[in-house]
Amino acid sequence: MIIVMEHNATIEQLNRVIKYIEDRGLKTQVNNGALLNVVAVIGDKSHLNCENIAAMDGVREVKKIQEAYKLVSRMAHPDDTVIKFPNGVKIGGLERPVLMVGPCSVEKDFDGLLKVATAAKEMGCQFLRGGAFKPRTSPYDFQGLEEKGLQYLAQAREKTGLLVVTEVMDTMDIQLLSKYADVLQVGARNMQNFKLLKALGRIKKPVMIKRGPAATIKEFLLAAEYVVSNGNPNVILCERGVKGFDNEFSRNVLDIAAVPIIKKYSHLPIIVDPSHATGKRYLIEPMGKAALVAGAHGLMYEVHHDPDNAMCDGAQSLNLNQFKEVTKQFNKLIGRIDYDNKNNV
Ligand code: PEP
Ligand code: MN
Repeated sequence: MIIVMEHNATIEQLNRVIKYIEDRGLKTQVNNGALLNVVAVIGDKSHLNCENIAAMDGVREVKKIQEAYKLVSRMAHPDDTVIKFPNGVKIGGLERPVLMVGPCSVEKDFDGLLKVATAAKEMGCQFLRGGAFKPRTSPYDFQGLEEKGLQYLAQAREKTGLLVVTEVMDTMDIQLLSKYADVLQVGARNMQNFKLLKALGRIKKPVMIKRGPAATIKEFLLAAEYVVSNGNPNVILCERGVKGFDNEFSRNVLDIAAVPIIKKYSHLPIIVDPSHATGKRYLIEPMGKAALVAGAHGLMYEVHHDPDNAMCDGAQSLNLNQFKEVTKQFNKLIGRIDYDNKNNV
């Protein structure tokens, strides 16, 4: 249920509504919109008298929300969520799409990572990605450098000013990762690790949730609901393809329609990862462009200084020259850099 307040409702009227609900053992979350304040009611509403609430001073209307994903729905929160970072970078709403790039995993060669980060900065990207804790299908594959990898990412941030996105696989690592990362990534395989999602709801750092390989859009939004309902509103969604019946040419099926669908039903930012969606480096450019045209708030794609020798996901990683060419195309589409006029904005 949500309670929409009148545009001229006073703070006292708003507080009376909140107290009325909380006195009955339910929780509230207030969303301060540009025009109206909306109070979302969380908990068992069976004993709540809607008519009484609707009649309270300052209340415009009481709406029952059908969607199970209440707090992340547009109904409860009509304005877009825009996540702001201390260095001024923003994701969501009408902000220019952001670019998150880097190797699949952080490897022993720090200079390689720095080459990627330097090129990323030069091309106007905002985030350096790279896994220090890797979810690998086989236990015999490279599992990541763990804290050493986080230190490398932090050093690359220091040298370039890029923000760091890296994956959290376990609740036990949240504190450690929070020391180093600007965004904690929940991998596709952990999208329904509810204990992890709840724990990420108790921190304030932005969390990026990747869509599970077999998750419906509703399940994807409910994963975000876990984080938001536990207290962290800073959630970014990432579409990275779902399993299809034909993986001969593409690792997954990129669900481009998920972008406008999620923008219609949710206020959260949604970005697209064309690397994991396709598994092929030549598909990063066309699918990344398609995602931007569909309205994605950003892209995440893999770049490696030497993809042929990458420890993980080399086939879906661009080398540095390819990265520059492809990113130039994305920047043209985003309108961030006007190459023809050599007039960067
Ligand atoms: C990744 O981003 O490195 C990754 C493992 O992605 P996903 O969880 O989407 O497979
Ligand atoms: Mn990868």
